[in-house]
Order: sequence, then structure tokens, then C-alpha cells
Amino acid sequence: MARDPATAPRARPREVVHLTDLDDAALCAVVEACGGLPFQARQLAHWIYVHGAEDLAQCRNLPAALRASLGAAGHVLRSTRRLHETASDDGTRKLLLGLADGETVETVLIPEGERNTLCISTQVGCPVGCVFCASGLGGVKRNLGCGEIVEQVLHGRALLAPGARLTNLVVMGMGEPLLNLRNLLPALERIHDPAGIHLGARRITVSTSGLPERMREFAAAPHAYNLAVSLHAADDALRRRLVPTARAPVAAIVAAALEYFRTKGREVTFEVVLLAGVNDRPEDAAALVRVLGHQPCTVNLIPWNPVEEIAGYARPADAQVDGFAERLRTGGVKVTVRRQRGADRDAACGQLRLRGPDGSRRTG
Ligand code: SF4
Repeated sequence: MARDPATAPRARPREVVHLTDLDDAALCAVVEACGGLPFQARQLAHWIYVHGAEDLAQCRNLPAALRASLGAAGHVLRSTRRLHETASDDGTRKLLLGLADGETVETVLIPEGERNTLCISTQVGCPVGCVFCASGLGGVKRNLGCGEIVEQVLHGRALLAPGARLTNLVVMGMGEPLLNLRNLLPALERIHDPAGIHLGARRITVSTSGLPERMREFAAAPHAYNLAVSLHAADDALRRRLVPTARAPVAAIVAAALEYFRTKGREVTFEVVLLAGVNDRPEDAAALVRVLGHQPCTVNLIPWNPVEEIAGYARPADAQVDGFAERLRTGGVKVTVRRQRGADRDAACGQLRLRGPDGSRRTG
């Protein structure tokens, strides 16, 4: 007799476990719980992080029974999938990744000669709300999990030409990374692990909007990663205008950055997105010289890349940027200038996510 569906016992929904969320010990426990041995956990990790396997069926040297058992227990190799990709004329490639809950994040691969840099995100949206940035327009929805961060590297690495290597990682995409240290630090461990993706700490840069306490917490991490601080202005009132959620005074941010240098031996880079007539004036350069002159750090100037969604700002002319850089150099500040790449295809952060999964412009 057929059961009434309303009273029939319901099978518990199978809980999906994303294996990229697990560290070595947890992965080993999962494999052993499914009838495998510790060396098979290492083989599985090799498939995930070295070969970039996306499905258990690809892990050919694992016994079929173990793969079946892992699958039946709800273990999957990836929680993210590629939804859309754009390519710029200069070689920059931008990926929109779909997450298990329907949210999306961006990952950008920037090839420059022998150098292949990947820019990854740490949150869905961003709580910081810099006035010139598309990523902060909708606020933050949630932190990315450890696996969602690591998988961006696996997806980005898969875009490389055969034989090419990922040489640098910048954690500068959507989100404030230091507000998600709980998931970012284990993700960086996986990315750094010599038995896995194997990217050296000196090739990894984490960017923050300037949270002194979190910078100190980050300094306590086991490896000497590079730290970049988005300063944008050395005058507190102007900085609060550009980064409305900023609480810490510039002096406290600079002090925490110099402490990072003393603790880790890595010079901090201060990022300054230049907006014409707003923070590219001689007095803005003078303010930066006052706080950063002759200090062990570098200022990276980034002429703003206009985005359709943000009105009221303009990119400074190249001559203005060069003059600003010269004023800093004269004041004893090391300076680099980054002319943004991929400007022809939604390269500003947050742009691809503002589009739908098929690349069409979202209206709401
Ligand atoms: S620039 Fe960075 S910190 Fe500022 S809103 Fe955009 S993603 Fe957030």
C-alpha cells in the first residue's frame, strides 16, 4: 500500500562535504571513515591540489570502492563552478564562479611575461564601501569558506597555458580579507603547502583596507606573507570620505604596518587609488610624504579605472600621476605606478559580478 507522502518518513538530506574545506588531518579522517588508508588521503589530496581533479571519478589510483564510499557519504571535490569568463586584449582573464548557495565571486588571472598573477576574493561583496569601488555597492553577504578561497586558485591555475606556472597570488578581489582570517589563513596554508599548490609565502600578498588589530593578528600567522594596505589618503578626513567605514586613524594604520615589517621582515605596500582632483593634489602628496617619507615601505599608485556604476569621479591624466609620483619620490617615498590592466573588459573589481552568469548586465 502506498504511503501518504505527508506521513512517510523522510530520508535525511545528504550533507555535502567539500573536501577543499578540510586540512590534512580532517581529510585523512574522512578517508579512513570511508574505509581508506592514510596514504590514500595523501593520494586524494594530490589529485585535488596538484592535478586539479574536479570529480572523484578522475582519481584513478584510488580504489573504486573507496571513491564510491566517499561519494555516497556526500564528499565532493569542488563546491564552485565556472559560470562565465572574459578575456582582455592584454591577456587578462576574468572568471565568474558560482558558489553552492547561488552566490558568485570573481577571480582574475593577469599574465605579464613570465609572471602569472591571480587575484582572488575572500567575501561575497564587501563591507568596506570605498566610494570608487563596485564591489562594495551591495554591501557584504557572507564570508567565503576555506574551500571557496582555495578553489579560486584551482580554477585560475587551470586557465594557464600548458607548462606555465602560477607565480603570484594577490588577495585583493572582493571583500576585506582580514575580516575573514578564520577561513583565509587555513586557505593560505593549503595554497602554500609544498605537497599541494605549493606557492611560496613571498609570492602571496594579502590586501587590507587598514584594520590595525587584524593586521597584528595576521602578523601572528606562521608564514611571512606580503601585506598591502589600501590607504588612498594620509589625511584622516579625506580618507574617511573615500573609505566611509574607516575607523582607525592613519597614524594607527601606519604604525601597525611598520610593526608588521618588524615582525615578519616584509615591507608593506601602501595602495593609493588616485582620483582626479580628489586625492591627487600636491597637498595630498605632501601628506603622504609626512607619514611615509623615509620609512621601509612602498607606495603603489593606481590611477582609478572608471566603472559605469559609479559617477562623480575621474581618472587622473598620466602627467598628473607622474607628477604626484615625483613629489613622493622627492620626499623620500619609494613609489610604483600600476596602470590598470584589462580595462577594456570589466577589469575593475566587482564588475563581472554585477553582470549575470551569462555576462549580461544586471539591472538590480
Ligand atoms: S576597494 Fe576593496 S575594500 Fe574597498 S570596497 Fe572595494 S573590495 Fe572592499
